[in-house]
Amino acid sequence: MKRMDVLSWDEYFMGLAHLSAMRSKDPSTQVGAVIVSGEHRVVSIGYNGFPNGCSDDEFPWDREGDFGATKYPYVVHAELNAILNSKNDLRGCSIYVSLFPCNECAKAIIQSGISRIVYESDKYADTDATIASKRMLRAAGVELYQLPYRIQMQVQKEENE
Ligand SMILES: [Zn+2]
Repeated sequence: MKRMDVLSWDEYFMGLAHLSAMRSKDPSTQVGAVIVSGEHRVVSIGYNGFPNGCSDDEFPWDREGDFGATKYPYVVHAELNAILNSKNDLRGCSIYVSLFPCNECAKAIIQSGISRIVYESDKYADTDATIASKRMLRAAGVELYQLPYRIQMQVQKEENE
């Protein structure tokens, strides 16, 4: 008899997004994104971090202070990293994100042809960035779907026998 209690596709891909987020060195916000084709194939994956060559030891992760002394001018969001990491045509793909995309990522998502966003948290729903993001995504006809539950990920290391 086959196992019946397997992960659903949504759980599997959101779980991958969370696993990817664990790679982020951002001390306050770890976000992961997974781009999936219509055939349930992972096309690309990303997490929030600094661009290539911009060392985590030299660039700041701070959230407050002068603009140039914070992370904001430097960090590449998970969604944009996943889009830029892909060598494939993303038209018609879905993107799984642990946090609803900001307005800058929404532009990249729309322009890449991604047609569906599956997200988990919408904790910044009241911010100007998220309101602008949803306005663009709705105008562009991108489908938005919030998972009705949160995926919990835990990596436990055990000594090999
Ligand atoms: Zn963003």
